[in-house]
Amino acid sequence: MAHSPLPVLSPTARGPVSGLAPDALPTPLDYAALSRTELEERIRARKSELNAVILGHNYQRVEIQAVSDLLGDSLALSQEAADTDADVIVFCGVHFMAETAKVLSPGKTVLMPDSRAGCPMADFVTGEALRRMKEAHPGAAVVAYVNSTAEVKAEADICCTSSNAVEVVRSIPEDQTILFVPDRNLARYVEEQTGRDNIVAWDGYCYVHDDLVLDELDAARKRYPEARVVIHPEARDDLLAEADEVTSTGGMVRLAQEHDALILGTERGLVDQLRERYPEKTFVPLSGAAVCGNMKLNTLSKLAWCLDHRQHEVVLDEDIRRRAEDALRKMLAISGGWTAPSAEEEELELAGVRPKGCGCA
Ligand code: SF4
Repeated sequence: MAHSPLPVLSPTARGPVSGLAPDALPTPLDYAALSRTELEERIRARKSELNAVILGHNYQRVEIQAVSDLLGDSLALSQEAADTDADVIVFCGVHFMAETAKVLSPGKTVLMPDSRAGCPMADFVTGEALRRMKEAHPGAAVVAYVNSTAEVKAEADICCTSSNAVEVVRSIPEDQTILFVPDRNLARYVEEQTGRDNIVAWDGYCYVHDDLVLDELDAARKRYPEARVVIHPEARDDLLAEADEVTSTGGMVRLAQEHDALILGTERGLVDQLRERYPEKTFVPLSGAAVCGNMKLNTLSKLAWCLDHRQHEVVLDEDIRRRAEDALRKMLAISGGWTAPSAEEEELELAGVRPKGCGCA
């Protein structure tokens, strides 16, 4: 991901919120000395000044979730942000998520609070490595999980999420080999669900989900025998075999509405979010160690700094952006998540009226 810092506005143009002008606070560390209330005030003030929308992934810290306009998984957030009238998107997540927001909103400025917040699973495969894999398997279809870089998506025929991966793979002719990147666990789950034997999986994984083990599940079940066990398909197959349900984070949020007790095999941040939303219910992390350190790199002080200094900006090569968008749009058309706008909707868009705007910007 390339970064091109935007010019910092003069303090007089913005006016200090807490008595300290942004130029007196050059680094995120300087913001760390401010109180939580002060940081939240600055974030709100800058957000409205920049006409920004703050996206908080389900795995973010609770204090980041508290100031986010939209919460959810990376694709839903990127789609919703594209539907807003915001000029600036601040993505509190990891690199590939901010890239996805840029792919779907090329006209908006996309910022990240911490440029080091990458995803180890996405980094397992590069565009160059995937090109070599394609050369070794001529005629194969490439399916890229959305947890991949824009460059990798640009090399794919189609993208998938954890909730539509089975549907996407079923849309590919049965006799065509599939190269599935980068998650080997999701590939194995799809293989099992579709009965295909021609999926060549990249050997990548998410360390948070791959590290969940049966011993922890047994211990959680003994303590909460009434809870349903829900596990993310990024976990290993021996664990998935023991689950009552295998589903994405979006699916987990829906199940939380329906059930009083769940053991959740996913990142801890989602459990924290659900506990805040439904304090009367029982939500238990399958493992207390299921924490994505990369996601937690984003903090309130970095978010305030990011808005004040308008950094770090995500910039994509237009050819890569367009090809990545094609792969995403193909997936959305299959899973019903996106349909071509009707003539009436296009007219409204041209007139500056957003028929599907969520009004959060
Ligand atoms: S939880 Fe896993 S897939 Fe998600 S950002 Fe962290 S390492 Fe990547």
